[in-house]
Amino acid sequence: MSAQILDGKAIAADIRVGIKAQVEAMIAVGKRQPGLAVVLVGEDPASQVYVRNKRAACAEVGFYSELHQLPSDIPVARLLALIDDLNARETIDGILVQLPLPDHIDEEQVIERILPTKDVDGFHPYNVGRLTLRMPLLRPCTPKGVMTLLERTGRQLEGLDAIIIGQSNIVGRPMALELLAARCTISICHSRTRDLPGKIIAADLVVAAVGRPHFVQGDWVKEGAIVIDVGINRTAAGALVGDVDFPAVAERAAWITPVPGGVGPMTIASLLENTLQAARLHVPG
Ligand code: NAP
Repeated sequence: MSAQILDGKAIAADIRVGIKAQVEAMIAVGKRQPGLAVVLVGEDPASQVYVRNKRAACAEVGFYSELHQLPSDIPVARLLALIDDLNARETIDGILVQLPLPDHIDEEQVIERILPTKDVDGFHPYNVGRLTLRMPLLRPCTPKGVMTLLERTGRQLEGLDAIIIGQSNIVGRPMALELLAARCTISICHSRTRDLPGKIIAADLVVAAVGRPHFVQGDWVKEGAIVIDVGINRTAAGALVGDVDFPAVAERAAWITPVPGGVGPMTIASLLENTLQAARLHVPG
């Protein structure tokens, strides 16, 4: 078998076209444009690239965006005061604090400070709780993007055996909740899981979110499985690679996402969708 490619880059471009049209329609009836505030603490080069890409996507669809670039030694109280200010601003619908934050800052405290209706990353315990209870509001972006990719396969998800490798708060856990809500039977694996290949081979759907280049091997994957590669890893030579051994797994899978051009662009597309959704919450009608 040779897998069909789930082209996240093309699907995300489609989504942006749709959002741009919705923003134009909002403005045409006199509403303001959706607004996103991005907070970047420190000078991590990867974070700077992510933030640049997110703001470029905002500009493309007609959102207002602003960047708050803060020094890495900023006192926590000042960061929290900025979030309070952004929470109160009527023209700001979404607040995105780029992670990771420097060690002296408690990420949970910062995320919890964001108003849940402005938490466009979907990381606030309120939004995670709502997803857990199957009444989602703003959904974590990467798993939401994966669900959009899965819809595009046209495959019925109900009843599939799905395995998620990785249990982080931002990817693995909310991914499991999304797939459970779609009525998959889920297994969540992590670094202490025994016989991982033996579990993966039984799965109809594999989501790899490990952070290890080429971790998932070709002969671990069932013929005809759907394989979603969330991983973004940089090799010594500077190339971006996923968590899946793409050529070997593509021989067996029915569908596979590439890296780059798979889940990454979908994460940004979900951020735009969440910001638009937040704007509709703040400016109804
Ligand atoms: P993370 O917080 O480091 O979590 C990694 C998970 O993998 C942990 O649960 C860990 O288990 C598990 N793991 C590590 N080694 C393992 C092994 N040998 N066998 C089984 N499980 C193992 O990472 P993350 O934030 O979830 O991100 C995962 C990857 O996705 C990274 O490459 C990241 O860059 C990428 N990412 C991509 C996007 C996107 O938009 N495409 C978004 C976010 C993240 P323990 O819990 O036991 O330690």
